[in-house]
Amino acid sequence: MSIWSDRGHFIDGSWIAANAATPVENPATEAIIAQVSRGTNREVDLAVAAARRALPVWSAVNTGERAALLERIADRMEAQQDLLAEAIALEVGMPIKLAKMIQAGLPIQTFRKTAEAVRNFAFERQIANSTVIQEPVGVVAAITPWNYPLHQIAAKVAPALAAGCTIVLKPADLAPINALLLARIFEEVSAPAGIFNVVTGPGSSIGQHLAIHPDVDMISFTGSTDVGAHLAREAAGQIKRISLELGGKSASAILDDADLGKAVKATVNACFLNTGQTCSALTRLIVPVERLKEATEIACEAALALQPGDPFDPATKLGPVISARQRESIWALIRTAEAEGSRLVLGGTGAPEGLDRGYFVKPTIFTDVDPNGTIAQKEVFGPVLAILAAKDEDDAVGIANNSEYGLSGAVWSGDQGRAIRVARRIRTGQIDINGGRFNVLAPFGGFKKSGYGRELGEFGLEEFLETKSLQL
Ligand code: NAP
Ligand code: MG
Repeated sequence: MSIWSDRGHFIDGSWIAANAATPVENPATEAIIAQVSRGTNREVDLAVAAARRALPVWSAVNTGERAALLERIADRMEAQQDLLAEAIALEVGMPIKLAKMIQAGLPIQTFRKTAEAVRNFAFERQIANSTVIQEPVGVVAAITPWNYPLHQIAAKVAPALAAGCTIVLKPADLAPINALLLARIFEEVSAPAGIFNVVTGPGSSIGQHLAIHPDVDMISFTGSTDVGAHLAREAAGQIKRISLELGGKSASAILDDADLGKAVKATVNACFLNTGQTCSALTRLIVPVERLKEATEIACEAALALQPGDPFDPATKLGPVISARQRESIWALIRTAEAEGSRLVLGGTGAPEGLDRGYFVKPTIFTDVDPNGTIAQKEVFGPVLAILAAKDEDDAVGIANNSEYGLSGAVWSGDQGRAIRVARRIRTGQIDINGGRFNVLAPFGGFKKSGYGRELGEFGLEEFLETKSLQL
């Protein structure tokens, strides 16, 4: 039985059949696992109209009730966590155990924690003779990628609904099933019709039409820097609010007093998580020059433990990448790095042994990399680590900041205070100190070309609010 049989688009609380379909591929087997509707501008118009109609009613619902709906959705998601994980392991290729914990687990947390955040949020405050109130922005176009598909959807849908906004979601065509399973959950909990709508199909046609729709008040986009820049230009012409969560080339800076073994292993795991298809992946490992050789050996050993394989084998830690195209673009970057003279110490192009079907890539490591080289500058979005040598702490900070991106990072030191001082000098939206854990309440977003706006928690909620002052 297929994981999803097509029911069409989810618009105004009902399923609207479409005329054409897009196949969804399992990247581990190259088999077609489902068909989803291929939307047109007509369905986008219907969905935006439904969201517009639902807005006055939903925005007037009190925050306690809005929070209660998010909690009902979290409960349903939790009851279906295995199914959600299976769907995402099938369409994205992330190993099932990790898919359950991260791909399905994080969105559940996001719905729950956002409910908590909105219950505690002060929508109104007094400033001298003014009452300042925060109101929902309106109808939100959410456009999301395929790498952590349900997490990226939850990071937009939960706070937007909590704020009192209504939504039209255009999920990535490469991994749309999770979005449709979420729509079914909205149906199962009898969410008010029209507050959350899903239209599937190509970004270049319907995504574009949705983003520039005059009845859409805000675009919330996660994906590539190119498409983000394009949408920002479109939004500028309409003076439309837009938030962008784009790519990254995040650095893990290991200082001379750190536990090298622990820090290198953790960085390798973070780099290769989801086969490197993570916007905040730690893809640049910066180590003291005198420990470069030792760090490279530890990194290779840690990466060798991550052999690619079947995502449904419980022992697998590394799945395939999402598509033939993505694999080709990863291999092209590896070839460029080799042509530039970067020193390849593990992996490289070509399918891993015994894995001729599926889009598998060997865990790949370059060492002693030039900080200005392609493999230190370009987002690969694959299982490729670049190791760079720093002369001292200032040099490490300089290398970390030598990037057009500014999404994430890590600092490791035996002295927590020193690590925090170094972290303050790195221009990124988040930094993990000595392996600090991901926090679904902390603001997530980028500096520089990693975008603008913040997602999650109280900051994520504020993105979907407009501010009004009443002078008394
Ligand atoms: P993408 O092309 O930017 O796609 C992201 C979303 O935008 C998808 O839903 C896509 O639709 C849609 N889209 C594409 N063109 C559009 C347009 N003109 N107007 C409106 N929506 C549009 O990203 P991708 O193809 O998934 O990945 C490409 C690269 O982006 C990756 O290699 C990686 O470097 C980066 N990336 C970053 C993140 C992140 O979390 N920051 C996530 C994923 C990818 P369809 O794809 O369904 O057609
Ligand atoms: Mg694309």
